[in-house]
Amino acid sequence: NNYLGLSSHPEVIRAAVEALEKFGAGLSSVRFICGTQSIHKDLEEKIARFHQREDAILYASCFDANAGIFEALLTPEDAVLSDELNHASIIDGIRLCKANKYRYKHMDMQDLEAKLQDAQKHRLRLVATDGAFSMDGDIAPLREICQLAQKYDALVFIDECHATGFLGPNGRGTDELLGVMDKVTIINSTLGKALGGAAGGYTTGPKPLIDLLRQRSRPYLFSNSLPPAVVGCASKALDLLMESNAIAQSMAAKTQRFRSKMTAAGFTISGKDHPICPVMLGDARLAAVMAEDMLNRGIYVIGFSYPVVPKGKARIRVQISAVHSDEDIDRCVEAFTEVGRKHGALP
Ligand code: PLP
Repeated sequence: NNYLGLSSHPEVIRAAVEALEKFGAGLSSVRFICGTQSIHKDLEEKIARFHQREDAILYASCFDANAGIFEALLTPEDAVLSDELNHASIIDGIRLCKANKYRYKHMDMQDLEAKLQDAQKHRLRLVATDGAFSMDGDIAPLREICQLAQKYDALVFIDECHATGFLGPNGRGTDELLGVMDKVTIINSTLGKALGGAAGGYTTGPKPLIDLLRQRSRPYLFSNSLPPAVVGCASKALDLLMESNAIAQSMAAKTQRFRSKMTAAGFTISGKDHPICPVMLGDARLAAVMAEDMLNRGIYVIGFSYPVVPKGKARIRVQISAVHSDEDIDRCVEAFTEVGRKHGALP
């Protein structure tokens, strides 16, 4: 998930080394005891600014951010409405809370509306969705979700792990891409993918919500503070993205090149406009042997089959990165074409 190639960016590495030298290997403490240094506060402020939100709170991972938010925010009088294909960490976070739970069909707005109608009897409604779904490379219909949320007085939560840094004109994410930055209330995302790829996660949104999480969110309260080197990487990655949108933008053209050339070659690529490009093959064995042959040609792609994806929907997931050259992408398409013909995936 090194979407922007920032994990090996010289300035990101230098920032990590500087933070390590200045602040040491770690804080040996949770945040509220003695694990908060200026770099943690600066990074939280920077994350909020990047997303144009009021405040942000750091976690050891986005898994933790998702595990900590629903229980802290929702009571048994509330309701949470979750896309059936949401990430495992959202599902686990929801399991931990006592709110009334609704699971709507994947990106199905009719089903979401029916569930929102039923949920009117509850005090507060929260719609939770991945901004971009990593298995299929599809993007949540956030405009429609926000319209429904407005109609039925609900809050919107998005997990932006596969969007932060590169979706939208300035890489702010799915909400920027779809023009609803002012309508999504809560964003959870990771520092472990496009933003330097080290580790860490966060929640960003209204200040009262972040204040509440600092008081109540268990993975924040009871887990060690992010190590300085990790904070240094993420902080520099955000600086680079806020200085210019050139890195974020380079992604879209490359994704388009791969998707259109593969489609022209006869492959079916799931999703739309996302650098996760699942080459749909159906058969689990075919996906495994083709991925192995691709690796033999020097191209590192992974075959996914049941239980990670539904039966009969095996695929090879290709992820395009901003550091791939056009030649890399063309070579990958050529290799897929050769390997596909060899194994009967193409005529
Ligand atoms: N949410 C989504 C959609 C993810 O893809 C991931 C990571 O795979 C996570 C949450 C967890 O992020 P982290 O690796 O920071 O725990």
